[in-house]
Amino acid sequence: MIDPQTTAADVELGRLVRRLPKVQLHCHLEGTVRAETFRALAAERGVDSERARGTLEATYAFATFREFLLTFAEVCKTLQRPEDYARLARDYVVDAAAQNVRHAELFISPSVWTFFHEDLDVRETVAAMRAVFDDEGARRGVTVALICDLTRNFGVERAFDTARVAVGLAEAGFGVVGVGLGGDEANFPPALYREPFDFARAHGLHAVAHAGEAAGATSVRDAVEILGAERIGHGVRALEDPAVVDLLVSRRIPLELCPTSNRLTGAVAAGSPHPIAELDARGVVCTVDADDPALFSTTLDEEYRIAGRACGAAALVRFAANAIDASFASPRRKASLRRELSAAAGLETNPA
Ligand SMILES: [Zn+2]
Repeated sequence: MIDPQTTAADVELGRLVRRLPKVQLHCHLEGTVRAETFRALAAERGVDSERARGTLEATYAFATFREFLLTFAEVCKTLQRPEDYARLARDYVVDAAAQNVRHAELFISPSVWTFFHEDLDVRETVAAMRAVFDDEGARRGVTVALICDLTRNFGVERAFDTARVAVGLAEAGFGVVGVGLGGDEANFPPALYREPFDFARAHGLHAVAHAGEAAGATSVRDAVEILGAERIGHGVRALEDPAVVDLLVSRRIPLELCPTSNRLTGAVAAGSPHPIAELDARGVVCTVDADDPALFSTTLDEEYRIAGRACGAAALVRFAANAIDASFASPRRKASLRRELSAAAGLETNPA
């Protein structure tokens, strides 16, 4: 039976989520390709993909983290030219604006692009995306910065090459603000990537890392202490060691929490509640995101609703504020976003 009170609360929560100006800190651009677009690109570009041949519903169905990584790779195989990425950038800005996303720091994975398409010119591709982010973003009120993922699976040398690419793109004015570390965490621990991260930070880039998703709390500690990560992607398994939770709290290292992703990849055990409420209660700086929204059949708004049901409306406003503070936006942009958030949250408590 549907509880009318629960439903009313859910409707109210949905309204709040729509109204909140949002900052997106953990979203992979390649993971925003809609299933329809992936299938169309596969056909246009002649990519033989079993996924693109099955039913639409099965396109992005997967059961393990490894299968997910393979799906991500298949999507990247269909993205072959700068104009494909420009198309993706345009779709992203349209979808983001529709959810009242006001600032985004998107992951891009150039080493995955060139792994599949050696001839792809990374600089030309990022320039094509930048033009769209600037034009379409200005039109729709969304600012977009980029974080280059060093992609652990390809090993340290290639990660170093990508760090150099990231620095070059930042110096060329393409809005690259940091480096990240995604991919196969269980087999490629943070410590391997100390040098590329040192290099990127020495050249003025910010550092973030996926950790505590497919590996335990030590991975989170090492991402912070060895790589100098300023934010942690996921980090849910920090809870396996209270000392690592204390580290996150004392250094105010934000976690980018993506509930649906964690459920689908098994980072949070099936049947267990997502630990966002527990992490928040322990004083960890929590933010909410969608990771690879298209691949996970979710949206940022939906992830906010999930977090809101677990933690309540007041916490949701706090998570939105945390994302503004944790972003690498300029102090002026942050101040403007905070004003917008106060106005939106004020409406919640005082509709008059
Ligand atoms: Zn991610």
